[in-house]
Amino acid sequence: MPRVLIIEDDADQREILALFAREAGWEVSEAPDGESGIKAAQADPPDLVFCDLLMQGVNGFQVCRAIRNDASLRSTRLVVTSGRVFEADRAAALEAGASDYLQKPLNLNRVQEILDSFPAPKAKTPSPSSADKSSPAEGRACIRFWGVRGSIASPGPGTVRYGGNTSCVEVRAAGQIIILDAGTGMRALGRRLMEEYKGRPLHLNLLLSHTHWDHIQGLPYFAPLYRPDAHLRVFGYEGARSSLSAVLSSQMESPFFPVGLHDVPSHFEIEELRSMRFDIGPVRVDSWFANHPGICVGYRLTTAGGSLAFFPDNEPPSRQQQARAAAGLPEEHSAAYAESEEARLIEFIKGVDVLIMDAQYTSEEYAAHVGWGHACVDDVVRLALAAKARRLVLFHHDPDHDDTMIDRMQDHARVLARAVEGRLDVVAAYEGLEIDFGRKD
Ligand SMILES: [Zn+2]
Ligand SMILES: [Zn+2]
Repeated sequence: MPRVLIIEDDADQREILALFAREAGWEVSEAPDGESGIKAAQADPPDLVFCDLLMQGVNGFQVCRAIRNDASLRSTRLVVTSGRVFEADRAAALEAGASDYLQKPLNLNRVQEILDSFPAPKAKTPSPSSADKSSPAEGRACIRFWGVRGSIASPGPGTVRYGGNTSCVEVRAAGQIIILDAGTGMRALGRRLMEEYKGRPLHLNLLLSHTHWDHIQGLPYFAPLYRPDAHLRVFGYEGARSSLSAVLSSQMESPFFPVGLHDVPSHFEIEELRSMRFDIGPVRVDSWFANHPGICVGYRLTTAGGSLAFFPDNEPPSRQQQARAAAGLPEEHSAAYAESEEARLIEFIKGVDVLIMDAQYTSEEYAAHVGWGHACVDDVVRLALAAKARRLVLFHHDPDHDDTMIDRMQDHARVLARAVEGRLDVVAAYEGLEIDFGRKD
C-alpha cells in the first residue's frame, strides 16, 4: 500500500487530507509540525509528503530542504500546500525540492490526480511472476522513439526505415508517462495514447529541450490536447527572448493554427522551470544547459531502476573550440574553458544507462557546420565512452541523410566504440525503437 505523510499544523486541514487519502487506498501518517514531520519521514520513508508552507518552528521550506538532502528520501514526492498566492513562494518551494505547489483551499481533484499518479497498490509489491506481465506504466522502465530526425520532418522513400519525424521520445517509468520533446513524432504518439487510454483519464508530462521548430511542432497535432480528461504538464525553461508559454502559444495563434493553446479542452499547464533539478512523481529529473543556440537543455531521468540522458541538440564545446582555432577564427573561449565545459557535461551523463544524443553529422560534414549547435558521430562516441554510458543512441538525424547514410554512420560509430576497451552498445534511433532501461539487478 502506498504511504503518505501529511505535515500540517491545522488539525482540520490535516483531517480532510487524511480522510481523502485513506479513501483512495493510502496508508496515512500525520505530523502536526515541521520538526516531527521530518523525523517521521526519516524514520519510515513515505512515497508522498504533503507539507504546509507556513508553520511555526520549522517551516515548509525547511522541511523540503531536509527531505531533499536525505538520500533515503530521494524517491519521496514532495507536495507543498499553502494559502499564500505569491508566485515567489511557489518558485521558492519548487527550488527547495517540492515537485508540486497546491494553493489552499485545496482543489481535491488535483490532490486526487497526485494520488492517482502513483502505481496502484498491487503494483508496489509485484510478485516475481506478475512483474513481467505488468504494463509499462506500472513496472518497466522503457523508452520508445516516435521522432528521431533533426531540423525538419523529412518523409519520403529514402527515410522509410529510420523515419522522417522530428524529435519525440516517450518514457514510461515508475508509473509516469514522460514525453521528451514535442516534434512531429508526437502526433503518432497521441493517437496511440488515445487508443490505449480509451475511457480512462490520461496524465502526461512533457519535457521540452528547447523551442526550435523540430522540437515543438507536433504539439498542436497531439490528440490528447483535445480531450477534456487529459492532463498535460509541460516543463521547460524560459527562452532567450520570451517565455515558454508565449512561444508555445504563438505557434498556435491565427494565422498559423485554428485553435489557440489556451482554448484546448484538456488540462494544460506550463511550468517554467527555475531549478535544474525537480521530480516527476518518483522520477528524478536533472537538467543541464546544452551547447546550442538559445536556451536549450538536456535532461537526465533517474528512477530506482535505471537512468537515461537526453541531449537532442548539442555541439561538444571542445571540438567547436578546436575547429574555430584550426580555421583561424577569433577565439570565443579558451581551450581550457571549452574543456572544462565538456568535462562538466561528461560528469552530468556519467554512468547513464542510455544516452540519447545529437549525432547529426559525419566528421567531414561537421567541418562545414562548426557553430551550428550540432555534433558529429565521432565526438558523440567519444563523449559516451568518456562518461562510461552503457548504451548510446544516435539521434537528431540530418534531414538530408537517407537510410543508407544512417546505416553507415551507425557502422562507423560501432567500429569506434569497439576500438576501446569496455562495452558500449551503439544504435541509431529509428521510429518504433524500444529500449528497456531498468536494470534487472
Ligand atoms: Zn533540433
Ligand atoms: Zn535546436
